[in-house]
Amino acid sequence: MKPTLIAKVVVDVRTKALNRPFDYVVPEGVKADTGYRVLVSFGRQLTQGYVVGFEAPPQTEREDRKLKPILSVLDDQPILSAELLAMCNWLTDRYVCTMLEAIQSVLPGAFRTVTRDKYVCTQKALHQWLRDEREATAGDSDEGDGDGGDGDGGDSDAEVNDNTGLHDANALPAAILQLLRTLGRKPLSAEQLIARLGPEVMLQLPQAISLGLVTEVFTQRDKVNDRFEAFLTTDLSSEQLAAEVLRRERRAPKQYRLLQRLLQSGLAERPVSVSALGVRPSDAAVQALIHSGVLGMTQEQVFRDEAWLSQLALASGGKGAKRELTDWQKRALGVITRSLDTKQKQVVVLHGVTGSGKTEVYMQAIDACLTVGRSAIVLVPEISLTPQMVERFTSRFGQTVAVMHSALSAGERKDGWVRVLQGLARVVIGARSAVFAPVVNLGLVVVDEEHEPSYKQEETPFYDAREVAEWRANYHGTVVVYGSATPSLEAMAKVESGRALLTTLPERINQSPMPAVEVVDMREELKSGNRSLFSRALQSGLESCMEAGHQAIVFLNRRGYSAFVLCRNCGERIQCPNCDISLTLHRGQSGDWLSCHYCQYRADVPDTCPACGEQAMRPFGIGTEQVEEHLHRNWPHWRILRMDVDTTRRKGSHHELIHRFERGDADILLGTQMVAKGLDFPNVAFVGVISADTMLAVPDYRANERTFNLLTQVLGRAGRAETTGLTVIQTYRPDHYAVLAAAHHDYGSFYRREKELREAFDYPPYQELSLFLATHAQVNIAKGAAARFERELKRRLSPADATVLSASPSGIGRLENRFRYQVVVKYSQWETVKSSLQEAYAIVSDKMVRLGGTCVLDVNAGRM
Ligand code: ADP
Ligand code: ZN
Repeated sequence: MKPTLIAKVVVDVRTKALNRPFDYVVPEGVKADTGYRVLVSFGRQLTQGYVVGFEAPPQTEREDRKLKPILSVLDDQPILSAELLAMCNWLTDRYVCTMLEAIQSVLPGAFRTVTRDKYVCTQKALHQWLRDEREATAGDSDEGDGDGGDGDGGDSDAEVNDNTGLHDANALPAAILQLLRTLGRKPLSAEQLIARLGPEVMLQLPQAISLGLVTEVFTQRDKVNDRFEAFLTTDLSSEQLAAEVLRRERRAPKQYRLLQRLLQSGLAERPVSVSALGVRPSDAAVQALIHSGVLGMTQEQVFRDEAWLSQLALASGGKGAKRELTDWQKRALGVITRSLDTKQKQVVVLHGVTGSGKTEVYMQAIDACLTVGRSAIVLVPEISLTPQMVERFTSRFGQTVAVMHSALSAGERKDGWVRVLQGLARVVIGARSAVFAPVVNLGLVVVDEEHEPSYKQEETPFYDAREVAEWRANYHGTVVVYGSATPSLEAMAKVESGRALLTTLPERINQSPMPAVEVVDMREELKSGNRSLFSRALQSGLESCMEAGHQAIVFLNRRGYSAFVLCRNCGERIQCPNCDISLTLHRGQSGDWLSCHYCQYRADVPDTCPACGEQAMRPFGIGTEQVEEHLHRNWPHWRILRMDVDTTRRKGSHHELIHRFERGDADILLGTQMVAKGLDFPNVAFVGVISADTMLAVPDYRANERTFNLLTQVLGRAGRAETTGLTVIQTYRPDHYAVLAAAHHDYGSFYRREKELREAFDYPPYQELSLFLATHAQVNIAKGAAARFERELKRRLSPADATVLSASPSGIGRLENRFRYQVVVKYSQWETVKSSLQEAYAIVSDKMVRLGGTCVLDVNAGRM
């Protein structure tokens, strides 16, 4: 039979070798189209696949090309639109990943179907098996006699077996007989069979299948099913219904009460949910009313994330109220909305100082976007760190919002995705991966806090949500807005080269002044005899803030009690046994312990130095726990909330801390960068930075930019409303340009200095930088892989195309007992180096996988 169409299917089987679609026949009557998930058999397993295209069947079908059919279609609408498929194709090309990896990043986990193959004996095998058993028992009871009779019976059975290609039942290998016996009548999975018969069973299975003795059966279901609820309907008008109610008052009081409640719930206008009424579809009154033709019943899908949204919108109260825009805001909005109409990609950089009302501009731009019938995506650095933002959006836009939040259940996330796909939700807000939301008619992408590193995914595929946003804006001919108080050098390079428009909000709302900043040189403090963690300026700042009844934020970008423990006698530092990093000291109610912040290794603090045996172990490098202890000791009556990774592990605890501080349940919010981001506390009048140096010390070409950004953000938390803000930065490097520029609220001077340095050293954004990283338990293999990559690349690329740095140990040379070697490549044109990088990577990674190691290629890496 000649197939009508051949579908190209990306199968959900995770190996690099399968990075291409496979051909399947679309059987008559199977409604498979591009973008649908389908069930196919691949090798010996059944798996989910994604239809990515079609091709006409060849004119003459070759014998060796027996295509398998698509077994079933798993969706009633395509879940990957033409746009999303094109985007996945682009992802594979830009980030050197497989199509499957791209699709899996785009789709929520709940769309991955579970398939389990099971094996079962055929009727014929059962027949055979029963006979064998009979023979065995007959043989046991009497060896000589009865041969004739049984032999006759055997002959007739053998005829049945002829159909299966078996001429002599006794010729069945013992192993296959054992397989049949084990299977019996009950289906078993491959895993169960292996557990009982050993791995050789995988060799016998195909044989038994080809003999027609065993067949595969399978079960398949979505990890998360759609939820349906029963709804009651009616064809009657409200007058007719009222008459039906009256007729039942005496005769059928239960039906009477039910109908009355249904009427009150608006049954005449729309279907009413059975569960919302608190009745069951099987209740006698319900059934009787359906029977007499008054009611009908339908099943409708309910979206699980909507309940969560309504709760949030209720809780957020008036936070989303629309504001009259300031002149600056109007101007910014104008730049964005004008770009909405141009039908081509436009990038707008919205540079607004902290508290200048950027969020209000985003929301009114979204209004404009919705008015012309289009949808919007709002990206935030980390959704769980921005509860206030989410509240403002749900409060303003209600059920047209879909929040892509990791705190939602798999079902809620899936339903949110479906609401977006169906066009029911048209404002999507979420972190990095929300950029993949299946919005129908995209009109605007907002990237809030555009400078944040979290927009770059740090695992395969190493995509950058900002690049994806621009790809989609290009596809839809629309706008990307990059909002920030400290635009990244990448964003500003776009402005300077004419690839983006710049619009600014230079003033805070209500013209409240930027906070006054004092930079304290901690060397001077020490000289004048102050050995405390707190400079005199920070102490008096905090004290007057508290006296005035305001709140304060204290910031230090390091968690734990102290960065490391060191022997004062011999200089030995306690290291993690699995990683090349020092263990961090933690102090809890039950005592001290050491912990590795990478692999979670835990150890007790030794009394004596493991190297020299002296009792001289001392903590060095202050962490948030130590700051908390000292604040308590100095000012026992102040109420302190500490917010860092260690106090926010429990789900919802982060949100809870923010609300407690918002309510005024604490005087001081102390923490790591979590306290710096996206929060708006009107009563905060003082911000203290314990040390600006922790951030400057990071060995990364972005360390200065990160320091400037974080300082700007955290200082911006002070004096946002009525209170005037005061801030103190403590540092050992008071002359550093990143510290000084942040202290003077002078983005321009920071930008000019940083730009000079980046240009001089060929760093991004003036060159793109990609990073190859190989890891292996054996140092030589990791090193060898990096060296090979370097060689392969140098063979393909001339120095004019790219600078390939020598293979070298990465910043942390060993993590979780795996050695890490890297190669850094710098170039100005991705297109010129792309195929060379892809080839070199393919060569090395194939080999590395066979050797039990890993390697990754981080294109346009946000690190070095
Ligand atoms: P940003 O995002 O730039 O840090 P926000 O959008 O959070 O600033 O605005 C800071 C505060 O000012 C918020 O409380 C917000 O409600 C308020 N706000 C913003 N725009 C206006 C406006 N036009 N009039 C009055 N208040 C405003
Ligand atoms: Zn470790």
